[in-house]
Amino acid sequence: MSDQSVENVIIVGSGPAAHTAAVYTGRAELRPLLFEGFMAGGVAAGGQLTTTTEVENYPGFPDGISGPELMDRMRAQSLACGARIKTETVERVDLSVRPFVVYTATGEYSSESLIIATGATAKRLALPGEESYWQKGISACAVCDGALPIFRNKPLIVIGGGDSACEEASYLSKYGSTVTLLVRRDVLRASKAMQHRVLNDPKITILWNTEAEEAVGEAALTGVRVRNNRTGDEQVLEASGLFYAIGHQPNTEFLESQLPTDETGYVITESDSTRTSVAGVFACGDVKDKVFRQAVTAAGSGCMAALEAEHYLVDLKSVQRDTVSQIEGKT
Ligand code: FAD
Ligand code: NDP
Repeated sequence: MSDQSVENVIIVGSGPAAHTAAVYTGRAELRPLLFEGFMAGGVAAGGQLTTTTEVENYPGFPDGISGPELMDRMRAQSLACGARIKTETVERVDLSVRPFVVYTATGEYSSESLIIATGATAKRLALPGEESYWQKGISACAVCDGALPIFRNKPLIVIGGGDSACEEASYLSKYGSTVTLLVRRDVLRASKAMQHRVLNDPKITILWNTEAEEAVGEAALTGVRVRNNRTGDEQVLEASGLFYAIGHQPNTEFLESQLPTDETGYVITESDSTRTSVAGVFACGDVKDKVFRQAVTAAGSGCMAALEAEHYLVDLKSVQRDTVSQIEGKT
């Protein structure tokens, strides 16, 4: 072992959920050890917000704040509260033993409790032009970016046919002049309620059997070349905004199926709690949330995980004390 001592709590991840958990467990004097990852899942330490520009809906910043700066501040607050941070990716864990064991490329660490806050990664299409216009018209989060001035009263495109795509198209219809939903099949995967919402919105047009082929523009996105996959017909649709809503991939490979997940890979927790099916293991943020997926909800669940871990450790230490006294009483 690279570290002989048993940690109270190890936090895996580096987004708002992980840092909120670090602030709370640090202030509870649990000396949390946080693994922030090194380009884990292709995203820099700091998580999804390091891939965006302005964040305008995180409370406390009336003029907005850049995503990377917000995450730098959260990291600094974790350190100020007593967290220790290692810039390493957790490669696997062993939840079948007590204390739990966490493995990185350089060492093994044992811990009484574990907070999983590894987030999710929005899926991209790797279209020609995507890199050039990412955050210059292309986004993977309509709720985050849709209200920006560059999208106001402009034609917008959403790709996807699930609940997220329908929700995002409805949301964007408040801001854009028109919203076109590109659906690759001739049916929507979304729930009936969501389908009704988009089908009855006069600002939303659905193009069925249609796939994006290329993002085009100059300094910023101006359009998307699309192809009908039945007829092969192509056209360039004018657009100032292109929003991907083709699903997210929760970052759970390192768990190697040691925790139950739903059919799309999200860690399952008890309702109104961050407790997983393994006592002492807690999950928070986007790795367990496929509905809200916001920085503030991730931070909120990071707080819940920290408080639940603290209660768990108090109970665990009291059981350990009782066991020691019973053994001593017998000898
Ligand atoms: P994440 O932010 O997903 O971070 C988790 C991080 O943990 C990973 O990125 C990685 O660095 C690290 N990690 C992963 N696996 C490991 C491992 N095995 N070992 C160690 N480290 C690991 N929300 C808003 O509220 N407002 C916005 O304006 C906004 N804008 C957004 C813009 C974009 C482009 C995107 C993609 C998302 C945006 N969101 C926004 C959503 C928001 O970013 C997420 O909801 C939030 O970041 C989720 O936080 P999280 O703590 O769950 O984890
Ligand atoms: P889903 O996986 O449900 O849907 C993804 C959509 O993107 C599908 O329509 C899929 O098409 C399409 N898609 C995937 N890859 C591509 C591609 N390469 N090109 C074009 N289209 C593509 O993801 P969601 O994020 O929509 O939802 C995830 C989960 O979260 C679901 O369980 C959903 O119900 C839930 N959710 C619930 C909400 C709510 O209740 N308010 C809001 C948001 C999400 P195809 O159908 O052909 O596979």
